Amino acid sequence: MPLRNLKTGRFRANPKGIKTDLMKKTEKKLGHSLKKDWDIYYRKKRWGLKKMAARWRIKRSTLRGFKKRQGWVGILGLELRKKTYNFNVSKIKKIKKCEVCGANKTKLQKSHFIPRSKGGPDCFFNILHLCPNCHDRLDNEDNLIIKKARKILLSRSANALNSRLPPWRQ
Ligand SMILES: [Zn+2]
Repeated sequence: MPLRNLKTGRFRANPKGIKTDLMKKTEKKLGHSLKKDWDIYYRKKRWGLKKMAARWRIKRSTLRGFKKRQGWVGILGLELRKKTYNFNVSKIKKIKKCEVCGANKTKLQKSHFIPRSKGGPDCFFNILHLCPNCHDRLDNEDNLIIKKARKILLSRSANALNSRLPPWRQ
């Protein structure tokens, strides 16, 4: 049974480790196994998928696969990197004062703008570092605090969008 559907060119669902002819050809060109190449370039040198696809002279979509179409990564059982950005706000270390009132002689609390109970994430665009007083007021829907908090989060998000970096890398 061919590993590609000859009409559509799609890879058939394929048990891991069974290489297509194209894969074998690429391997020959590289002089070592695709798995080894993946380990060197993708994992150690941290090349992206676009670069890997170019190196292997294949379309990026056939590398990763999509929907039910299995890509090289799936067929060969290669491991993808986890996203390098962790948007968890715990990385913001610069903040030492309550972001709303400026109080600095108090322990700051991480406060969710969209409450956790409503699905608000622990992300920099949803977390403020507040003194216990401002935190209480935010939780009690104090309009002034909400307004100030919204302004802070909007500018933080805008900065991230402008610089294309999360706050702790700006
Ligand atoms: Zn405060």
